Amino acid sequence: MAKKKQFVVIGLGRFGGSICRELIKIGHEVLVIDKDEQKVSDFSNIVTHAVVANSTDENTLRSLGVRNFDFVIVAIGDNIQESILTTLLLKELGIKNVWVKAKNDYHHRVLEKIGADTIVHPEKDMGRRIAQQMSDDKIIDFIELSDEYSIVELLATPKLNKKSLVDLNIRARYGITILAVKKGNDINISPEPSYEISEGDLLIVIGNNRDIKRFEDEVM
Ligand code: ADP
Repeated sequence: MAKKKQFVVIGLGRFGGSICRELIKIGHEVLVIDKDEQKVSDFSNIVTHAVVANSTDENTLRSLGVRNFDFVIVAIGDNIQESILTTLLLKELGIKNVWVKAKNDYHHRVLEKIGADTIVHPEKDMGRRIAQQMSDDKIIDFIELSDEYSIVELLATPKLNKKSLVDLNIRARYGITILAVKKGNDINISPEPSYEISEGDLLIVIGNNRDIKRFEDEVM
C-alpha cells in the first residue's frame, strides 16, 4: 500500500464523495468538511473526522488544523465564488498540495492565478477517456503521458494467441515497449522476449500514440 497520508476533502457531492471513499479504501486518513449536515452525517461512519462547516470561514479552517494535512481537495461543485475563496484561504494557510475541481475555463484561470497546485476537470477528462475507450474496443485503459505518448492497456485478441514477443518483434517493428502483461490477478513485469501471449492477456504498452495504433491495426 502507498504510504499513509492525511487528506482533507471539502465538499461531499458526487465528486468529493467518490474521492473520499476511494482514499479511505486505500487506507488514508480523511477529514471531510461540508456545510450540509446530512452529507456530513452520511460520511461520519467511514471517515476519520467529519465536520459541518463552511470552508470560506478562515477561523474554522485554522481551528480544524487543516494546515497540518498533506493534501486538501476542494470539491465544491457549482459555487465558483466559494471554491475560489476556499482555495485562496488554503494557499494563505501555506498548504502545499491544494487540488481543486474547476467548473469551467474562467474558474480554471482564476484558480491558477491564486496558486491552486492541481486543477481538475472531472467531467471533461472523463468525457475524453470514455470517447477514447468507446472508439477502440481493444483499449481497456490508458494514461496520457503527453500529447504524443501514452501507456495503454490492450486486450490481446485471438490473432495474438500463442505469438511470442520475439515473433512479433514489437520493439524493432513498432518502436513500442510492453511494460507488463496481466493475466487475471497475475502480473508479469518486463516479460521475456520468449513470452507467449494468450488471448485475453492484458498488454501494458508504452509508446508513441501513432506507433501503438499501428501495432493495433497490424497485429491485433
Ligand atoms: P458534485 O457536482 O461533485 O456532485 P455538488 O455541487 O453537488 O458537487 O456538491 C458540492 C458539495 O460541496 C455540496 O455537498 C455542498 O454542500 C458543499 N459545499 C459547497 N460550498 C461549500 C462551502 N463553502 N463549505 C463547505 N461545503 C460546501
